Amino acid sequence: MTNPMNSPALRPGDILLNPRGGWRETVESIVVAFVLALLFRSFEAEAFVIPTGSMANTLMGRHRDLTCETCGTSFRVGASKELNDGTCTLNPRAFVRQARCPSCGVSMRLTDAAGNYEHAYPSFAGDRILVEKFAYDFTEPKRWDVMVFKYPEDAKTNYIKRLVGLPGETIAIAAGDIWTSRADDTPLIARKPPDRMRAMLQTVHDSAKVATPLLDAGFPEAWADWSAVGEERRWTTSDRGRSFTVTATEPAMLRWRRLVPDVFDPERRVAKAPEPALVGDFQPYNQDPEYVGLHRSRKHGCLVDGAHWVGDLAIECQLKSIDGVGVVTFDLVKAGIRHVCSIDLATGSATLAREGDDPVHATAVTAVRGQGRWTILFSNVDDELSLAVNGRRVKTEGTTAWHRNLVDAVDATPVLRGGEPGNTGPCDLAPAGVTVTGGSVQVADIKILRDIYYIASTTQAGLFGREAEERFLVFPLYEDQFFMLGDNSSASKDCRAWGTLDEPLHHVDRRLLVGRALVVWWPHAVPTPWNVKVGERCGWELRLPFLPNFARMRFVR
Ligand SMILES: [Zn+2]
Repeated sequence: MTNPMNSPALRPGDILLNPRGGWRETVESIVVAFVLALLFRSFEAEAFVIPTGSMANTLMGRHRDLTCETCGTSFRVGASKELNDGTCTLNPRAFVRQARCPSCGVSMRLTDAAGNYEHAYPSFAGDRILVEKFAYDFTEPKRWDVMVFKYPEDAKTNYIKRLVGLPGETIAIAAGDIWTSRADDTPLIARKPPDRMRAMLQTVHDSAKVATPLLDAGFPEAWADWSAVGEERRWTTSDRGRSFTVTATEPAMLRWRRLVPDVFDPERRVAKAPEPALVGDFQPYNQDPEYVGLHRSRKHGCLVDGAHWVGDLAIECQLKSIDGVGVVTFDLVKAGIRHVCSIDLATGSATLAREGDDPVHATAVTAVRGQGRWTILFSNVDDELSLAVNGRRVKTEGTTAWHRNLVDAVDATPVLRGGEPGNTGPCDLAPAGVTVTGGSVQVADIKILRDIYYIASTTQAGLFGREAEERFLVFPLYEDQFFMLGDNSSASKDCRAWGTLDEPLHHVDRRLLVGRALVVWWPHAVPTPWNVKVGERCGWELRLPFLPNFARMRFVR
């Protein structure tokens, strides 16, 4: 295997370019420049294009838009190394050859049989963003802002990252989270505000995406009725696991496990029996050969879906109350501790609670009352519980957050006992559940989501898992110094890793700040179904006509 550090193409996710590129980009640019002129004429803003993926999934560099052939999940895969630097040629050695689906875990091949570029899976230029350049003239930058700044080692180059550390703070990266302190205070976990938290959550599983070929081969559904073997199954599904219905007088539990096939041969309909895995930091955007070894690992005595176990999870679903009574309880397990959200469907009153050494307990009044249908999001992220109904966070009374010691957070380990139906003790291998008592309920489109996991490594080799990571990292910041990290932590050269061993450089000075990323105003265009190829350049086809990608135009959060 080649050493990725010697690869000139490897510049994980950093530099911002001014828009330019091949034909397709040129034509797109003319259209969008016109739109831009109309919309932003009086706007103090500058347009940039994102070339690489250090901020994925928030921002896309050059990438391929894929739909999983097994389950239909759409996901994006970085392709920024396919183009040789400075020339308009494809680098065949850097083709992304296969892509593993983030939901069902099955890989699909992206090259043709001879290993050549497959035009059925075209790659597209990165997101184009608008940067608000006067944003920080009157207000201080806020933690979690996505910012553009001049790279400290080369002020001609613009970088884009997320701000995680403010002047005068000491920043620690520990257990995947950011911790901050001032002077000699105890480090406290830095919590994301609700809109950032939701925007930064990554989908690990979506029950609406049914992996039919896998199920046909006898592979079990990810969600299972948790009654003991021999007991009556009470949760039923009529759509192969997209939705589940129960009528229960006694508590009836449905639980989720991360089950991914080791071997799947769709032609022979063979799916090797799965071993449940811990939710990990697998990032579908990173499918370069260098990253494939990080897609799964064996740690804590079991399989992990990524290089690091991620315990900060959320569950989102469509909840339907059929008879308007009963109690529905969502639970999330982290390190053997159960975090629960119970809603009484007759009254709408909700309880959020954490068991264990640092118990928390809060109550809320919600609109989830009587017969009806709601989108529920219950999360256990950054040592805080939250409930959102129909996209709005519910106000609670009581405590929803707790404070852990940083070292305790680093030392936390998953509990592996009891990951089988019938066992109701909290187990990290069956980390999410829905329990219904005394009512008729349907849950559908159930998503399991995870928090971003920041890796405590100061070197690129550490990010690739080829060097030991630190237990945690600490960075002091002085006046006018800011600390920036990429959202795609295993593919981001950021404040952790700048400078040299002798002269580390772990901050950005205030004078280097350019502005705040505001909107993705031009994600790549979508060729219409009736498109025709009108040319080819840089190995990519220009197909007309195309439509603007309205669905992915968005504010940067
Ligand atoms: Zn899939």
